[in-house]
Amino acid sequence: MNTIMNTYARLPIEFSKGEGSWLYDTDGNAYLDALAGIAVCSLGHCHPKITQAICAQAATLVHTSNIYHIGRQQELADKLCANSGMENVFFSNSGAEANEAAIKLARLYGNKNGITKPSIIVMDNSFHGRTLATLSATGNRKVHAGFEPLVSGFVRAPYNNVAAIETIAATNKNIVAILVEPVQGEGGVIIPSAGYLKKLREICDKNNWLLMVDEIQTGIGRTGSFFAFQQDNILPDVVSSAKALGNGMPIGACLTAKKAANLFQPGNHGSTFGGNPLACHTASTVIDVLLEDDLCKRAKNTGKQLVTDFSKQLDNVAGVKEVRGKGMMIGIELDNDCPELVSKALAAGLVINVTAGNIIRLLPPLNLSNDDAATLVEKLSTIICNHLADANS
Ligand code: PLP
Repeated sequence: MNTIMNTYARLPIEFSKGEGSWLYDTDGNAYLDALAGIAVCSLGHCHPKITQAICAQAATLVHTSNIYHIGRQQELADKLCANSGMENVFFSNSGAEANEAAIKLARLYGNKNGITKPSIIVMDNSFHGRTLATLSATGNRKVHAGFEPLVSGFVRAPYNNVAAIETIAATNKNIVAILVEPVQGEGGVIIPSAGYLKKLREICDKNNWLLMVDEIQTGIGRTGSFFAFQQDNILPDVVSSAKALGNGMPIGACLTAKKAANLFQPGNHGSTFGGNPLACHTASTVIDVLLEDDLCKRAKNTGKQLVTDFSKQLDNVAGVKEVRGKGMMIGIELDNDCPELVSKALAAGLVINVTAGNIIRLLPPLNLSNDDAATLVEKLSTIICNHLADANS
C-alpha cells in the first residue's frame, strides 16, 4: 500500500545528491538539471554559501513566533524592498500562500472603498496555486475539476489582451484588482507583448485598482532582472514571490507598495511558520549571492545564448513550432503533445519539463556554466530531433 497520497504521477527515479547544475540518482548516475526543482534551485544544488547559512542559522535559532520581533525577517524584508522599490512584506511558506495574502489584500482594499463584492481580474491559462482561492484564480479547468464550487470574485480575461481588460473596466464596477504573471510559466512559457504590464498599470491607475503581479516563477533573477516587472519600469501594488527565494528552503513573500502598503493590520492575517529565522536567513543569503555574482545579468545573457543556439539547431526542424525565452525561462513549442520527452531526456542524463502538453520548459540554474549550456543544447536538440523522426516514421 502506498502511504503517500497519490497527488503526483511520479517518475521512477530518485535523486540522492545534488551539486551545482548536476543531480545524481541513487545508482550514482549524473543528470544535467535544466529544471532546478521547477525554478527553485536557481543558485544550483547545495550552493556552499546557502548550505553554510542554513547550518549556521539552524545551530543558532530556527523558530520563535511572529508574536516577537524577528531580526532575520527584518533583514530579508529590507533587502526585498531595496531591490524592488516595494514598501513592505508579509512572509509565508509557499507561493500559493503568498497569492492568498494578495487576494485577501484586494478584498480588504475593495471593502474599505465601499465595494462589498470585490472581484479580481485573472487571466486565461494562468497558474496561481492549489489552495481553494488560488486554484479558483487559476485559469485552467483541469485544476478546478472536482473542487467546485470555486471561490467567487474572479473575472477571467484573455492573457496579453489589453482591450479585453478595458471592456471589463467599462462594465464591471466590482473590480478592485488585476492578478497577472509577467510570463505564464505553467501555461507554457507564454511571453506577452513588450509593455503589457505598463498598460495594465495605466488601467489600474485610471480605475483605482491594485496591480498584483505573481512573480513566483519569474522572480529572483529568473527573467534577467530581480523581478520581471522591473523590465516594464513600473511599480505594482502587490507582488508575490516564492520558489527561488529560498533556493529550496520553503518560503513565500507578499510585497506591497502604494495603495496596498498599509492595508493589513494586526489580526487581519498571519502564519505560524512564515518568516521564521531559518527560512529568512537562507533567503537573505540567496539575495546576497544573486547580487554578488551578478546573476540577473548572467541569466539574461545565458538565456539569450540558449535561445539563439536552440534556434540554430531546431528552427528548420519539422514539428518544432517555436523557440522562445525570457532570461532563463525557455520554452520550445512542438506541434504535438510530447510528455514522453521527459523520460527520453532522463534516459540521456537530462532533467527537463514538459508543460501545457506540447511545450518543453527549461528553467536551469541561473549560474549554469557555458559548458553545461552547450551540453544542454546539444543533448536536448538531438533528443527532440530523434523523437520527431520516430513520430513521423
Ligand atoms: N504562482 C505561480 C506563477 C507558480 O508558478 C506557482 C507554482 O508553480 C505558484 C503560484 C504556486 O506556488 P507553490 O507551489 O509554492 O504554492
